[in-house]
Amino acid sequence: MNAEIIAVGSELLTPQRIDTNSLWLTDQLNALGVEVTSKTIVGDHRERLAETVRAACARSDIVILTGGLGPTEDDVTRDAVAAALGRTQVFHQDICDGIEQRFRRFNRAMAEINKRQAFVIEGAEVLPNPNGTAPGQWIEDGGRAAMLLPGPPNEMKPLFTGECLPRLQALLPPQVIRTQSYRIALMPESEVDQRIAPVYTKYTNPVTTILAAAGDIQIHLRARCSSEAEAESLLAEVGSQIETILGAWIYAKNADPLEAVVGHALRARAQTLSVAESCTGGLVAERITSVPGASDYFLGGFLTYTDRIKTELVGVPELLLREHTAVSEPVAEAMARGARERTGSTYALSVTGVAGPDGGAEATPVGTVIVGLAGPEACRTRRTRFLGDRDRVRALAAQLALDMLRRELLPSPRW
Ligand code: AMP
Ligand code: MG
Repeated sequence: MNAEIIAVGSELLTPQRIDTNSLWLTDQLNALGVEVTSKTIVGDHRERLAETVRAACARSDIVILTGGLGPTEDDVTRDAVAAALGRTQVFHQDICDGIEQRFRRFNRAMAEINKRQAFVIEGAEVLPNPNGTAPGQWIEDGGRAAMLLPGPPNEMKPLFTGECLPRLQALLPPQVIRTQSYRIALMPESEVDQRIAPVYTKYTNPVTTILAAAGDIQIHLRARCSSEAEAESLLAEVGSQIETILGAWIYAKNADPLEAVVGHALRARAQTLSVAESCTGGLVAERITSVPGASDYFLGGFLTYTDRIKTELVGVPELLLREHTAVSEPVAEAMARGARERTGSTYALSVTGVAGPDGGAEATPVGTVIVGLAGPEACRTRRTRFLGDRDRVRALAAQLALDMLRRELLPSPRW
């Protein structure tokens, strides 16, 4: 079954207010195995809303409206839904009495306009709202349902959980959603897609989505089935093909970022890490230490931005700097070796490069990055050139450093 959410309120069409209700509702629906296929935000306008409701009811099994149930002239949800469904509205004296009592409890008199909230769409069930004056409404018709919920999140959430969830569960066929994600470092999105499209385009279930950030791609598989076993087996069927194609490019089979994967591997091996960073200015250390418990394996680092500090802090020979310049393999290697020796860590990463926009040279154009990795056996370096602005080059350089260590620690995928 598919669901559709309509958030009602002109304030939600301004830059000041965000429709957060639909995010929360989507999470609830997904947990039930229901996919949200469309979300709409409509201002407080009777005809436009009625039109939206009509279209939603024609194409979706479940339609959820939030907002616009208040007592004022701009609260048009009841009227619009009634018009869209061609139903009348019935005045409920008991709802009116309830609202009146609520006001009395707060020592206030009910305003005449609040009577509007006592109107119920013909054939709808009333959903009591203990946290506000506007009750919700549930309309069921031939295995399909529409519901009207108040806008304030503190009223909408308990009303949905208490009243709508059990009704939806009774309405739904048994259905589960299971997901599988993969993370890939430093492969362009287009290349990831080119490689795996021959596999995922053969399947409409699971649905495959590719999310791209700089140097970091996530592949999400989402299976919808009537049983957990069926969903898991579909995920395994498609997932195993993707794993074969991408192999060691996959650094995580869950949502873990690279720094967590690397940290996990270091801890499991009881090994330690230090860094010497130039163009990344501490980005690598920042990412490593963003993982709780990083002190188990991260000893510390050196921020060696100038030649003099590279020599003073990690012992890069002056001659090496003069002969090869700071952005060179020998210097990257000396930085990594120096950091490793001075901290006594198992591994040390170094990063040197030209982040730009100035400072490029013929041999080292803007975007050139060299990463060094010193370990117990050897020291390796990798030179590459990233395209993009300063922020992007620095972010990708940090990503490359972490991925180089990841490939060293986990040369073949764990799965
Ligand atoms: P209403 O039920 O339309 O009178 O909404 C009352 C208040 O609830 C609004 O002023 C918002 O602060 C909040 N609200 C309404 N709709 C949403 C929504 N979709 N997401 C988050 N807050 C909302
Ligand atoms: Mg409103």
